[in-house]
Amino acid sequence: MSHIADRIISDVGLEVGVASLTTEKIQEVVTRTLKGETGAKLKAYRETCMRCGLCSQGCHFYMSHDQDPSYSPVSKATETMYELIDKKGKVSPERIYEMAQIAFTECNLCKRCAHYCPIGIDIAYVMITVRRICYLLDVVPQYIRDTAHSHSSTMNQMWVKDDEWIDSLQWQEDEARDEFPELRIPLDKEGADVFYSVIGPEPKFRTQLIYQAAAIMNAAGIDWTMPSHPGWDNSDMCMYVGDYENMGRIKRAHYEAAQKLRVKRIVMGECGHAFRSIYDMGNRWLGYKEMPIPVIHAIEFYWDLIQEGKLKITHKYEKPVTIQDPCNVIRGRGLMDKLRDVVHYLCEEVVEMTPNREHNYCCCAGGGVINCGPPFKNTRMTGNRVKAEQLKDTGVKDIVIPCHNCHGGIEDIIGYYDLGMHGKFIGDIIYELMEKPEV
Ligand code: SF4
Ligand code: SF4
Ligand code: SF4
Repeated sequence: MSHIADRIISDVGLEVGVASLTTEKIQEVVTRTLKGETGAKLKAYRETCMRCGLCSQGCHFYMSHDQDPSYSPVSKATETMYELIDKKGKVSPERIYEMAQIAFTECNLCKRCAHYCPIGIDIAYVMITVRRICYLLDVVPQYIRDTAHSHSSTMNQMWVKDDEWIDSLQWQEDEARDEFPELRIPLDKEGADVFYSVIGPEPKFRTQLIYQAAAIMNAAGIDWTMPSHPGWDNSDMCMYVGDYENMGRIKRAHYEAAQKLRVKRIVMGECGHAFRSIYDMGNRWLGYKEMPIPVIHAIEFYWDLIQEGKLKITHKYEKPVTIQDPCNVIRGRGLMDKLRDVVHYLCEEVVEMTPNREHNYCCCAGGGVINCGPPFKNTRMTGNRVKAEQLKDTGVKDIVIPCHNCHGGIEDIIGYYDLGMHGKFIGDIIYELMEKPEV
């Protein structure tokens, strides 16, 4: 059995943070957080966990490391939160470094293990609470810290300036009008049916996704809009850092951008964590009982378009595809059937991964792990050998992946394990197959 102390990775954010810690400060933050923010849940988990190890098989890290107990969910909780509870926070700064590395880089918060625990202990909740404590101690990996800082200072995670955002939308509209002469990307249209929101990287280096979404909205005759002002970026690394104050600020800005335009609903692009942040975590932190405006993920939007006969394709995608089930919209929202309806509508042949649906393995990028940057890339690659095997066993080349983070994670796995496969968003496939005007 390995131990976290034997695999410490150098990261400037963790190192500088730990350098200014004292045991007293750690104790104070741990006590304050456990008392003020966690209620009885963690204590109940600590007291009811039987150490049966049934959760181990649920975790891709454990399975990919030849069942090394150090990577089992229960071990991660024992080495971090349960120790903090037992010792009432009286641990050394070096131990906080180890705990931060476990919580930020060896758990994707994917919640798969919770399905395997007979009493429903949610290790993802335990790990995100460890992150919260590390954040309050200022011990956070540098790359994800930078992304969260960018979002909290500029209201988008990629530092896109306000005029660059509008320019990017106008540029995409301009490009698309060569192909679809009637196409518009309507900005700030009050009372529109759909407020479409994207993640920060889309205007920065995935602009084709905005182009494709505009083409689909246009062809389906949707009354839609995008905001010209901050609140357009639905991503949220503050959530994964444990900076809940800024998570709340960012989510409020997103909702308020839509409320200001008095739209009927928010449709989010193909991103898993952004959906978790607006649908599960940010809204709860803000104390919303109900969503101020209904929110749906792109999978559900495309499903609706198909039901309403608004999505017209000229033919089906001919090559066989497999489906990546993103944890945050499958385990988190139950969209597994709708995802399959959409993919089967678009594609001739679908070869399922095994296991799939709510039992699917995470891509190992999620939970902000990919955002912890290059120092931890190898952790992701060795920690997800089972995903590589699962992908390879399908025998197909194309993977439908309705989540940005899953794309990044799976593309890395494809390269590392030399799988020769390729990821596609649903929007990529719809755009390829849709009826286009003759110009
Ligand atoms: S990575 Fe997923 S399965 Fe593994 S401990 Fe974290 S939440 Fe559980
Ligand atoms: S399956 Fe549940 S009870 Fe058993 S060790 Fe894991 S967390 Fe504890
Ligand atoms: S990146 Fe995708 S597979 Fe990984 S945790 Fe997020 S939704 Fe799940």
